[in-house]
Amino acid sequence: MEGRDRSTMHEIRLHNTMSGKVESFVPQKPGQVHMYTCGPTVYDYAHIGNFRTFVFQDVLRRFLKLRGLQLTHVMNLTDVDDRIIANAAAAGVPIREYTEKFVQAFYADCRALSVQSPENWIRATDNIPDMVALIEKLHAKSYTYQSDGSIYYRIAKFKDYGKLSKIDLAGMQTNARVDNDRYEKESARDFALWKAPKPGEHFWETALGPGRPGWHIECSAMAMKFLGETIDIHTGGIDLAFPHHENEIAQSEAATGKKFVRYWLHAEHLLVEGEKMSKSLGNFFTLRDLFAKGYKPSALRFALASVPYRRQLNFTFDGLLQATNSVERLRNFRLRLTAGTFPDGAGDDMQALANSAVERMRGALDDDLNTAQAQAAIFDMVRRANAAFDAG
Ligand SMILES: [Zn+2]
Repeated sequence: MEGRDRSTMHEIRLHNTMSGKVESFVPQKPGQVHMYTCGPTVYDYAHIGNFRTFVFQDVLRRFLKLRGLQLTHVMNLTDVDDRIIANAAAAGVPIREYTEKFVQAFYADCRALSVQSPENWIRATDNIPDMVALIEKLHAKSYTYQSDGSIYYRIAKFKDYGKLSKIDLAGMQTNARVDNDRYEKESARDFALWKAPKPGEHFWETALGPGRPGWHIECSAMAMKFLGETIDIHTGGIDLAFPHHENEIAQSEAATGKKFVRYWLHAEHLLVEGEKMSKSLGNFFTLRDLFAKGYKPSALRFALASVPYRRQLNFTFDGLLQATNSVERLRNFRLRLTAGTFPDGAGDDMQALANSAVERMRGALDDDLNTAQAQAAIFDMVRRANAAFDAG
């Protein structure tokens, strides 16, 4: 965006799940953004619903950088959780060996979809001491209690519990516990920070005793370790808002007494042909499933980015074909520009057309990342420029 001065820049507006409103985005330190994204749990291949979120956060990171902000972005790989422990035990291999295949597959999928690497990829199992230290800090402030060798978070003590997902805890039993990493709002209870090992399960020997971290403490510990106690942006799929992000807030804010995240951004669900994606319905797709059918990564990325992130995205094979054609159209346009011969001199009309396309695209992205309007701005320009080509 050379040649533009800051006075022509509009403010960046982003929807914050915490307030439920679109807000003006102002980083904590001018010009710098610290951002955390909950990465995949590497117990299986990531599916297109996961990649809707990862493409969204990629568009966001590219946009923030385009706007001249210096970005420090961390994405974690959850390489220890209930499902990984169970699958690795069933396969009779150490968890690191079990997850490695899916870690590499995830990296390959990101490369295929042109999802940029964050400044830091981090793995939960590389940061266990930081999780232990955070649990000790919570213990010192009486936010924890023990039961059968596991350590739980006492949510009744954190008066702001539920502020992100607006959950009502009235009538909840004190000291009722939930051991699973993933659960529904109806079973909101004290959750496990540290889990005692069951026979045959992988565990770490630590100051807390033998065991393994719960999923939620992983993200709190790693986000604060790499980005500081208050971070600018935290992203994830909407299904993570409860319980995962609610629990991250409870852990981090109880430990530090500071606001954990300034802007919470969540991507909506993806449907497949109007239905919830599930293995039992036979409409569950990983990237490799689609590429094996001959669909192109560029078309998939285009399709996943075509709907603004806060709207539900209905993925259809018709839509994927349209996306294939759209990408082809852009490629042909580029070819025409680079291979064509044109009369000398700059055309004022074409310059104005390009400027207005850039302006519209930027305005669309400034407006809570309206990718649909940004794409429309490009295709308007392509249509008009093609007409000008045709007219010589
Ligand atoms: Zn997370």
